[in-house]
Amino acid sequence: MTRYVFITGGVVSSLGKGIASASLASLFKLRGFKVSLQKLDPYINLDPGTMSPIQHGEVFVTDDGAETDLDLGHYERFVGIQMSQDSNVTAGRVYSNVINKERKGDYLGSTVQVIPHITDEIKKLIKIGSKKSDIAFVEVGGTVGDIESLPFLEAIRQFSLELGESKALFIHLTLLPYIEVTKEIKTKPTQHSVKELRSIGIQPDILLCRGKDKINNKLKEKLALFTNVSKDAVFSAVDAKSIYDIPILLKEQNIDNYMLSKLKIKSKPLNLKPWQDYRKKVSKCKKVIKIAMIGKYVDLEDSYKSLNEALYHAGIINGVTVDIQYLDSEKINKNNIKILREMNGILVPGGFGDRGIEGKVSAAHFARTNNIPYFGICLGLQISIIEFARNVIKLAKANSTEFDIKTKNPVIALVEEWKDSSGKNIIVDKNNLGGTMRLGSQTCNIEKNSLAYKMYKKLTIKERHRHRYEVNSNFVNYFNDSGLIFSGISKKGNLMEIIELKNHPWYLACQFHPEFTSSPIEGHPLFNGFISASLKRKINQS
Ligand code: GLN
Repeated sequence: MTRYVFITGGVVSSLGKGIASASLASLFKLRGFKVSLQKLDPYINLDPGTMSPIQHGEVFVTDDGAETDLDLGHYERFVGIQMSQDSNVTAGRVYSNVINKERKGDYLGSTVQVIPHITDEIKKLIKIGSKKSDIAFVEVGGTVGDIESLPFLEAIRQFSLELGESKALFIHLTLLPYIEVTKEIKTKPTQHSVKELRSIGIQPDILLCRGKDKINNKLKEKLALFTNVSKDAVFSAVDAKSIYDIPILLKEQNIDNYMLSKLKIKSKPLNLKPWQDYRKKVSKCKKVIKIAMIGKYVDLEDSYKSLNEALYHAGIINGVTVDIQYLDSEKINKNNIKILREMNGILVPGGFGDRGIEGKVSAAHFARTNNIPYFGICLGLQISIIEFARNVIKLAKANSTEFDIKTKNPVIALVEEWKDSSGKNIIVDKNNLGGTMRLGSQTCNIEKNSLAYKMYKKLTIKERHRHRYEVNSNFVNYFNDSGLIFSGISKKGNLMEIIELKNHPWYLACQFHPEFTSSPIEGHPLFNGFISASLKRKINQS
C-alpha cells in the first residue's frame, strides 16, 4: 500500500519546498523504493501554460505534453523519474472537473460544495498521481494561511485520516528568520504557521526549518514545545551552496531514518554514491567560463530555470563552472554588441512575441560571423533561420509570421500558413491560438554526418516541444548548398528540428527544448557539447 508524504510550506513562499520534496524523494529512491511526486497548485489557471514567465517562472513541459509548474523540473532532475499531466494538479483543474461532472448530472441533484465535492476530487487526483508507488511525495503549493490553499489542506487532512495510522506523514517547511541587530534566530513565525495548520486539523509530524545555519538543540526544544512536534522531528534546511547538496545535507541529519520509523516500513540501505560522486566532480570545477544568454525574461532567473540548470550540469560534466551572463535582447545594439566577444559561448533561448527579436537576430549574426559557439533553442532556431535567410540567402524581408504577419519571406510560419507558396502567405486568425501548440516528446531523425550525430551518437532521438511556429517547408530548398544544414528532421519528414552550420566551430539550434531532459548526473548531449566547444574558445585571440 502506498504511503503518502505531504509537504506544506509556512511563513513565506519560495523556501524551496520543491527542492526539499525532490531531495527527500531522491533519498527514498536511492533506498530502492518506487517513489512518485506530485505538485498541488492552489491557483485557478488550468495549468501554468498561459502564465507569464516573469511572474511564475518557467513552464516545465513533460513527455506527455503537459505544461506544468517548474517544481516538476526539480523532481525529474533530482529523482530521475518522469512526470506527467497527473503530476501537477491546479485548483483550476479540480474545479473544472467538478463543474463538468455537475453539468453531466453526475452529482444526482445534490448541491455541489467545497466539502465534499471539491475535496473528493482532490483526493481522487492525489491517488491517480501516486501511480501505485511505495511512497508518494505530495507538495502543496502556496503558504499555509492562504485562502486558496484551504480546500487542498482539508483534502489531505481527510485523506490521511482515511489512510490510517503511519500511512501518511506531514512535513512542514518554514522559515526561521535571523535578526541581524539582536543576532537571534526567531521561532515565532514558525509557531504561528504551525498554529494555523493545527487549527485546520493538521498536526505536522516533521518540521524542516529553513535558515542560514543549522539550528541547535535549544532551538529544537523550543520549537518542539510550541508546535507539539517531537524534538527529534525538527530538522534544518540550511542555505546550501548548490541545490544538489541538499539530499546529502538532509541525510546527514538522518531525516530519512526518522521518516521510515514513522511510516513503519523496512528499507534497503541507502546508496548515496550518485550524490557523493556529483559533489566530488563539483569540487574539481575551478575554471569559470562565460555564456551569454540573450533573453527577454532576464529579470527573473526562474524564467529560464531548466536552461540554467542544464548549463550548470554541462559545466560540471566538462569540469568548469558556467557563469551565465543574462543580456536583455531589447538592449542589444550595434554599439554594445562587441561585448559578446568576451563570451565563451552565446545562447538564444525560447520565447514568445516580438519584443527584443532584432537584438537576438544581431546576436546570432555576431556568433555566426565571429566563430563564437552558438546554441539556439526553439525561438533561438527560428532566429538563426531568419538571420541566415536575410544575410546569406539575401531574402531581406525574411521573418516569422509571429513577428510580422505580412512578411514577404515567411521563413518561419504556422504550418497552416505554409500552404500557399505563391508568395502570398495565408494569414491565420491569431486571436484564437488556444490548443495549437506543438507540445511534448516527439521523435526526430538525425543525419549521420553531422554535429548533431556527433553529440547524440544516435540516429533517432526524442525531445520535448513547446511552440507553434515551424521552419516553412516552402523555403527549405533555399538553404541548399548554403552552408546551413537541416541535420534533424521530424519522423514524418516535414518539420525541421535541428540546424547547424558547416564551417563554424560549433553552431547548432534545435526546435525542441533539450533543457527539460538534462540531469545533474549526465547533463544533456547538446549542452555538454556546447559547453565543451565554448571551453575551447580562446577569448583574447578572437
Ligand atoms: N514563439 C515561438 C513559437 O511559438 C517559439 C516558442 C519557444 O521558443 N518556446 O514557435
